[in-house]
Amino acid sequence: MTVELISVGTELLLGNIVNTNAAYLSRKLASLGLSSYYQVTVGDNEERVIEAVNTAMSRADIVILTGGLGPTEDDMTKEAVAKALGLNLISDEHSRDCIMKYFEKLGVTEITENNWKQAVVVEGSQVIDNLNGLAPGMIITRGEKKVILLPGPPNEMIPMFEDDIMDYLTGLQPNIIYSTMVKIAGIGESKVETIIRDLVDQQSNPTIATYAKTGEVHIRVTASAPTKAEAKGLVKPVVKEIKHRFKENVFTTNEKETLEDVVVKLLNKYDLTITTAESCTAGLLTGRLVNVSGVSDVLKEGFITYSNKAKRKYLDVNKSTLKKYTAVSEQVAKEMAKGAALGTNADVSVAITGLAGPNGGSEEKPVGLVYIGCYVNEHVTVKKYNFAGDRQKVREYAVISALDLLRRCIIENYK
Ligand code: ATP
Ligand code: MG
Repeated sequence: MTVELISVGTELLLGNIVNTNAAYLSRKLASLGLSSYYQVTVGDNEERVIEAVNTAMSRADIVILTGGLGPTEDDMTKEAVAKALGLNLISDEHSRDCIMKYFEKLGVTEITENNWKQAVVVEGSQVIDNLNGLAPGMIITRGEKKVILLPGPPNEMIPMFEDDIMDYLTGLQPNIIYSTMVKIAGIGESKVETIIRDLVDQQSNPTIATYAKTGEVHIRVTASAPTKAEAKGLVKPVVKEIKHRFKENVFTTNEKETLEDVVVKLLNKYDLTITTAESCTAGLLTGRLVNVSGVSDVLKEGFITYSNKAKRKYLDVNKSTLKKYTAVSEQVAKEMAKGAALGTNADVSVAITGLAGPNGGSEEKPVGLVYIGCYVNEHVTVKKYNFAGDRQKVREYAVISALDLLRRCIIENYK
């Protein structure tokens, strides 16, 4: 089954707002196994919305429109859809009640006339309550095809989609879609693709898709089958094979789990405390760890030691080491990690020192050179990295590599 999205709004065409609705819906539709071949953005102009609806109806099974359901003059999506389909608009009693109750709750006694416009719906449509606003959504059936109207504000559209439309779309499909995400760190996208090329080449059901993220590669395995158990049965052996090929580079197969979740989980599992020492990332790594609720059980302290003086004062890095090897060096990363752990009585520590650029690089120490030290089980492992990209990218790569190094060091020492 194919879906075409029509985003209505002149603001979108002018670039005044970003079309996050289309991005959100596209992701959701893909996860439901629905194909999208076209997306259209059209201004608040009735004639052009009618044209967009006609075109979409001619080439998709389901047409979803967002925006233009509100009370103002420029909101005319339902008028355009009604005209395109040759249907009337009628006032919906239940939606009038909802509007009345909404204003009663706010203590508003005089309801302006244009608000009642939001109780007008396309004749014969299934009306979907809007729990976060006034304009209801609609599902219209035309033969085998469906037209779905959703409000523009994301805080209204997303809950309506998740509460009502998702189940509706799932119900239209003969097959269940099931997918698993395999998340990998420490290997680049092209290498990942090479390792699974044969699997990708012979894919049909399940399908295999790779997505490159900063410092991570995600592989989605998706199957379609009449029952969930059958779909799962198709996905399972492929995921097993992928895990076998990437071994410890796989950090999770849980869609929602992040690298920092995995690190905090491991620290909790082995009852370990951690202290961080950051130079060029200046708190980014600690911020990522603190994204995880429950980190308070394991995180002891976080040092931002940007200057050499701070590295000496807080982490006990030797003056002579700094002088001999400079701040961006294996030796300093090692002393930073050791100092952070011993100085705070932490079981584990991680230290980052590097050159984020764009200035300050040399032939011997180019921009993007980063050393990460990881203290686990009284032993420091230091790794050298050469990251490409601007200042922000180098810092992001450093954070992800630090999380990944921590993960590997903990597993190696405690598993
Ligand atoms: P309202 O009742 O608020 O008028 P509406 O259904 O008529 O809602 P629009 O008037 O088209 O929707 O848009 C209202 C607001 O919703 C926009 O100003 C924008 O903030 C947000 N919005 C609309 N469409 C999108 C979109 N495609 N992506 C992200 N935000 C959007
Ligand atoms: Mg509007």
